[in-house]
Amino acid sequence: VIIGGGLIGLESAEALVNIGLRVTIVELMEHIAPTLLDKDIAMLVENHLKEKGVNLLTSTRVTRILTKNGIVSGVDVGKEIPADIVITAVGVRPNVDLAVKAGLEIGETGAIKVNEYLQTSDKYIYAGGDCVENVDLITGKKVFVPLGSIANKHGRVIGNNITGSKDRFPGVLNTTIFKVFDFTVARTGLTEKRARELGYNAYSVATPGPDRAHYYPGAKYIRLKVIVDRDTGKILGAQGAGLGVIDKRIDVLITAIHAGFTIDQISNLDLAYAPPYSAALDVVITAANTARNKRDGLVEGITVSEAKEKLEKEDVVILDVRAENEFKQKRIESDKVIHIPILELRDRINEIPRDKEIIIICQLGLRSYIASRILKGNGFKNVKIIDGGFAFWFD
Ligand SMILES: Cc1cc2nc3c(=O)[nH]c(=O)nc-3n(C[C@H](O)[C@H](O)[C@H](O)COP(=O)(O)OP(=O)(O)OC[C@H]3O[C@@H](n4cnc5c(N)ncnc54)[C@H](O)[C@@H]3O)c2cc1C
Repeated sequence: VIIGGGLIGLESAEALVNIGLRVTIVELMEHIAPTLLDKDIAMLVENHLKEKGVNLLTSTRVTRILTKNGIVSGVDVGKEIPADIVITAVGVRPNVDLAVKAGLEIGETGAIKVNEYLQTSDKYIYAGGDCVENVDLITGKKVFVPLGSIANKHGRVIGNNITGSKDRFPGVLNTTIFKVFDFTVARTGLTEKRARELGYNAYSVATPGPDRAHYYPGAKYIRLKVIVDRDTGKILGAQGAGLGVIDKRIDVLITAIHAGFTIDQISNLDLAYAPPYSAALDVVITAANTARNKRDGLVEGITVSEAKEKLEKEDVVILDVRAENEFKQKRIESDKVIHIPILELRDRINEIPRDKEIIIICQLGLRSYIASRILKGNGFKNVKIIDGGFAFWFD
C-alpha cells in the first residue's frame, strides 16, 4: 500500500509493480496529484495506472497503519487493506531547525525567507534548495516548491553572490515532470482550478495530437491542456500526459510564459518540423490556435467532466460526428446520443433538435469544431463541443 498519489507515490507504484508486487495507492483527494494536475489530465493518468494493474482508492483517508506482532500488516481506511509493505509519500516539509536556531526569519510557507539574491534575514547568511521558499512567477506569491532543478540553480546564484558578483533568482513556475509506466506527465504554472480560485479570468483548451507526423512509424498520442488568461492572452499553466514526447511541448510553453508571450505569438512560433519529430502544426501551435478560436467566440468548449454532468442531469443532445467504424468501436451509451458522421451533417441537419443544447464530440476535437461551425451557420444557438473529444474521455 502506498499512501499518497503524488509524484513520489506514483513513481514508487511503477517500481513495485515492475518487480511483481500488487500495489494499492490510497489518495485522500478526489484524484491523484491534486495540487499538480487538473481532474481531466489526472483521470487520464489514473486510467493508465489501472491498465497497469494498480489498485487506486481516491477520496480515501488512511487513519492508521496496522501491525500484527509488531510487523506492518496493512492500513485502516474505514476497512482494513492488508499489506506486507506500507510506503508513506504524503509530501515534504522544509527542514528549518538550524535556521530557527540561528534566528533567521521563516516565511509564510514554513520555509526560510530569502530575497531575490537568496539572502536570509541575516545578510551574511544565504540559503537555497528545499529549505527555502520561492516566488511564484505567475502570482508573485511565496511558494514552497522543493525540486532538484530549482536547488541546483540556487547553488549557482548563491555561489556568484558570495564571491562578489550580483546574481538574482527570479522565481519558479512549479514545473514538474514524471514518468508513470509508459506515460510521461508534465506540468507548469497554475492548474485551471487554482487559477479560478485566485480570481483569474481563466479558460482552458484540451488538445490531443501525435508527438510526430501521425503517419510516421512510432508516432504516439499526447494530450495537452493549456490554461489561458482571457484578459491578457497569456499562458497561466499547462499540463500534458501520454505515451509520446511531452517534455519539449511543456518546455516551449514554459519559455513562452517566461517571455510573456500571448497565444497569438505562440501560434506562429517557428518550431522545428520534420515528420520524425513533430506534426507540421505541433500540438503547442494547435493548442494556441484552439485558444484563439475560443477567445474569439468561434467555438464554445466544455470539459469531459462537465459533459458527463450535463448528460446525467440535463436534457441535452450529444452529437457524435465520427465515422461509422469509430462509433462502433467506442461510444457513449445513452439515448441522448445522435450519431451523424461529419460528412453527412449538412444533409441530415434536420435530424438535430433546435430547441435543445447540442454537445458535439469527435475523436480529437477538430471535427467537433467543424460541426459546431456548421450548426451555428445554420442557426443553432446553443452549441458546445467536448474539448479534446474521446482522446480526453474517461470512464
Ligand atoms: C524520491 C524523490 C524523487 C525526486 N525526484 C525529483 C525529480 O525528478 N526532479 C526534481 O527536480 N527533484 C526531485 N526530487 C527533489 C530533489 O531531490 C530535491 O529538491 C533536492 O535534492 C534538494 O536539494 P537540497 O540540496 O536542497 O537538499 P538535499 O538534497 O536534501 O540535501 C541536503 C543535505 O543536507 C544535509 N543536512 C541537513 N541538515 C544538516 C545539518 N544540520 N548539517 C549538515 N548537513 C545537513 C542532509 O542530510 C542532506 O544530505 C526528488 C525527491 C525525492 C525524495
